Amino acid sequence: MILKAESISKKYYRPTKNASHFEAVKSLDFSLEEGKVTEITGRSGSGKSTLLYMLAGLLKPSSGKVFLDGKDLYSLTDEELSRLRNEKIGVIPQGQTGLFALTVLENVLAPAAIYGETSSLESRAKELLSLVGIADLADSKMTELSGGEMRRMAIARALILDPEIIFADEPTDDLDDENTKNVLELLQKTARSGKSVLLVTHEASAEQYADKIYRMDAGSLLK
Ligand code: ADP
Repeated sequence: MILKAESISKKYYRPTKNASHFEAVKSLDFSLEEGKVTEITGRSGSGKSTLLYMLAGLLKPSSGKVFLDGKDLYSLTDEELSRLRNEKIGVIPQGQTGLFALTVLENVLAPAAIYGETSSLESRAKELLSLVGIADLADSKMTELSGGEMRRMAIARALILDPEIIFADEPTDDLDDENTKNVLELLQKTARSGKSVLLVTHEASAEQYADKIYRMDAGSLLK
């Protein structure tokens, strides 16, 4: 599955003395390769998350287009885009994103619930929880988890429907060295099975797992 962005940029409304908008991502082209981990590093505020969300179909660019296998993502209807995202794209967002009324296992299975496919995926969900090191928390409520454990739940949840493209926004935040290594290895293994992985991180050790590394600086992407 090929993801390509052409001349995408993002301006946010932020009135100052000289301008009404702030350009968080300056016009750029980008593509993601199958079978590879592509990493974007850079300082906080440089536009990495904004770029990731535009590529993931979650944030409409101010200009430019994003194509997934030739389909212009932002010309699809909401329903078409939601379905495509759910089936083909896995997102590991920043922060704590679980549904608190559900158990960890139920959260991981939530993307499959839409299709009524949860029972067939239960063993895969447990396997993923074990790969990220929280198999013993499967039946815990989200409220009982630490920040790092919630993060790992989100990684398992992003992979449950076996997406073609994985967007990971600081997936190793809050994780100790051992879990950081496990998560980066899992993302690399996922890429090696033919998927595309975009990893946004400031974790220095991530470089050894990346096939291609970009740096973002003030909204521009540098090779
Ligand atoms: P990074 O992921 O590199 O930390 P972000 O993409 O989160 O950078 O943010 C880039 C810039 O855009 C920052 O200056 C941030 O304050 C600004 N920004 C991000 N989201 C919004 C928003 N919804 N509205 C206004 N400004 C935003």
